[in-house]
This record gives sequence, C-alpha cells and structure tokens, in this order.
Amino acid sequence: MNFSLTPEAQAYRATVRRIIAEAVTPEAIDRMHSTGTFDVPELTQALAREGLLERAVPGRGGGDPIELWLLFSELEKAGAPYDGISVALMVAGVINAVGTEEQKERIIPTITSGQALVCMGYSEPDSGSDVAAATTRAVRDGDEWVIDGAKMWTTMAHEATWLILLTRTNTEVAKHRGLTMFILPMDTPGITVAPVHTMGTERTNATWYDGVRVGDDAVLGDVDGGWRTMTVALAFERGVMGGTNAGVPLLRHFRAWADEVGLLDDPTVRDHIARTAIDNQVAALLTMRAAWIAATGGLPGLEGSMVKVFATEAYQRAARAFQEAAGPEGLLQFHEPGAAADGFVDYDARHSPVTTIYGGTSEINRNNIAERHLGLPKARS
Ligand SMILES: Cc1cc2nc3c(=O)[nH]c(=O)nc-3n(C[C@H](O)[C@H](O)[C@H](O)COP(=O)(O)OP(=O)(O)OC[C@H]3O[C@@H](n4cnc5c(N)ncnc54)[C@H](O)[C@@H]3O)c2cc1C
Repeated sequence: MNFSLTPEAQAYRATVRRIIAEAVTPEAIDRMHSTGTFDVPELTQALAREGLLERAVPGRGGGDPIELWLLFSELEKAGAPYDGISVALMVAGVINAVGTEEQKERIIPTITSGQALVCMGYSEPDSGSDVAAATTRAVRDGDEWVIDGAKMWTTMAHEATWLILLTRTNTEVAKHRGLTMFILPMDTPGITVAPVHTMGTERTNATWYDGVRVGDDAVLGDVDGGWRTMTVALAFERGVMGGTNAGVPLLRHFRAWADEVGLLDDPTVRDHIARTAIDNQVAALLTMRAAWIAATGGLPGLEGSMVKVFATEAYQRAARAFQEAAGPEGLLQFHEPGAAADGFVDYDARHSPVTTIYGGTSEINRNNIAERHLGLPKARS
C-alpha cells in the first residue's frame, strides 16, 4: 500500500494549510474556547471561496477522495474550530444522498458557499443512544406538517441557518419505521433555542418546537423512512469529518511544554508520549479509510464506528495520562499563570470525555461493531 500523496494532493493540503494559517489566529482559538462556539466564519468562507467546501461534500466532490481526509485532518491538527463546517458538510452529504433535486439545488449551495451552517436535532431529553425512540411529533395538517416537541444537545442551533430534525410521523408501527426527517430554516416560527454549556467549553443547546409548520419540500428522504436518512447521517458523522485526530494537537502541546519544563527525560512521560504518537498514527489510518469510503460514494457505518471508538478513547487516555504527569499545573486553565501547555492539558482532559459521547457513545459503537462485524446477537430492539 502506497500512502504517499500525489503532487495534486500535496498542493491541496498546502492550500488548506495556508487558509488555516491565515484564518485560525490565536484570537480565533481563544474566542472558540471563551464563547463555546466552535466555528470561525472567516475560515468557512475562505475555504468556500477556494471551492474546498464544494469538493468535500461526500459523494459529490470531483477531487481526489483523499481530500476529505486531508481537509479535516489539517483542521483538527491545527486545533481549528471546525464543528460548524463539519456538521454543514455532513448534512450536505445527506441531502446529496437522499434529498430531492429541488432540495439539492436550493440548500447545498448555501452550505458550500460558506453562508449557511446547519444543526442536527436528533437527540431528545429521553432518547439519545436510542435515537429511534424520538417522540417529537410531526402531524399532517392539509398541505402542511405541524411539528411539536423538544430536542436536547442541538449543537450550533444558535448560529445555524438550517435544522435537520428527526420526528415521529407514525405511532402505529415499530419505532424505526415511524420516523421522518425534515430539513427546515432555523428562523421558522415556533422554534426556541436555549444554551447548554459543557465542561469541555463547547456550547450546545436545548431546542423546543411549538406548532412549527413546514411543507412537503422540508421532508428529507421518505415519509416514515427517516431511519434510512438517519443511518446515512450517522455514517458521515463518525470518523469522516473530524473528531478522530484530537490527540495530535494534544501531543504537540504537551511535548513542547514537557521539553520546556525538563520532563522529557522522565521514563513515564516518554512512555506516554510514545504511546500517544502510536495511537495517533493508528487513528489517522482508520480515519483515512472511513473518509475514503465516504468520499467515493460509500457509507462507512462500520468503519466509522471502529475509528470513533479507537480514536476518542485513545485521546481520553492520553489526556488523562498527560494531566497526571503534569501534576497541579495540569489543572490550571487557559490564561492562568503556570498552566501546563498554556492550559491545553486541562482543556483536553475536560474535552476528551465528551468525544466518547457525541455522535454515538463508545458503548453504542461497540454494539455496532459486535453486531455488524463480529456477527454477535443484537443488543436491543
Ligand atoms: C457536547 C455534545 C454535543 C452533542 N451534539 C449533538 C447534536 O448536535 N445533535 C444531536 O442530536 N445530539 C447531540 N449530542 C447528543 C449525543 O449524541 C448523545 O448525548 C449520545 O448519543 C448519548 O445519548 P444520551 O446522552 O441520551 O445518553 P443515554 O442514551 O441515556 O446513555 C447513558 C449511558 O448508557 C449507555 N447505553 C445506552 N444504551 C446502551 C446500550 N444499548 N448498550 C450499552 N450501553 C448503552 C450509554 O453508552 C451511556 O454510557 C451531543 C452530546 C454532547 C455531550
């Protein structure tokens, strides 16, 4: 297997690196952590101007399939705020896979031009892992649908133009068969957004839907076929668009600090560094596989689960080990004098647990691997 990049892919990567260097300033990273909004409009728009968002939509881009991996790997390695870009491109890929021609023409260009962000309303207060148990109701009323209910963890809802919303349209059939996905503007009357701040600095939201009215043009996929749309969305969410290389900036920050304070000769510290470097390499290879499958029109449902479990758990292990090795300085936050790695050791220790939860917990992804790869019996109905 030859893993070296073609000259064209190297040129693509150089462009991505240039844009990141220009748009992702220390101030932008600081803003991301202080506001909890992991998005920088200047970055999204610069990528859009060079056509890089259009090329990154799964199943749509005309470039080398390795570009999808390169884009998110570079963003993540730089510690760039990329959640907004990631969710928007993921949903563009879902629209491309299951949307109508009219939806593709109306919605995808608003995303690939860097103007519109998207948020995902799947999880509810009482259904996260068991997302098919969603109770937010969409009921037919003449030519329209009326939506009522509540969602939890609707990240980016306070910035997004579009919302992708999982609803129950049929209560008479098995839970997976009575769901319908909608895509609608966030400024549709009847939607309320309230902030939820997390220990990893990221802001997410609780959202409510009170008599929200939409037409048939908002149905994404088939009526009562929302589970199929959901599986496409999850296949793009895991291991394809970021979230699996976070150990790289962590290692870079920790190693530089350990060198500065004379910890690099400590055998335990060296062991942690070496293990993390190896885990980062494995995570990169697994990510490359999932991203390649998505970029060539496939659905890496299983491969994405594999990389998500491995990479997020390795990141969490590394963050804990580095925090322990750093001692009290590892508990100091950004802008506190003496903070290990300028506060990144503390930040990664608080942020890494979250990565094993969103996009499906480690347990749910392990169940997926057990059932689909190892052929073990189903864990739930
Ligand atoms: C920061 C953040 C951002 C998020 N962003 C979004 C978003 O934008 N949109 C969105 O829709 N959701 C989002 N989520 C929600 C996320 O997908 C859910 O939190 C996650 O799927 C777990 O659901 P839950 O929180 O309801 O936990 P639960 O489902 O209640 O799980 C609790 C525990 O039980 C375990 N468990 C549950 N079922 C099983 C099982 N069958 N087998 C073994 N163990 C099981 C879980 O692994 C977990 O440890 C976000 C979450 C966080 C923390």
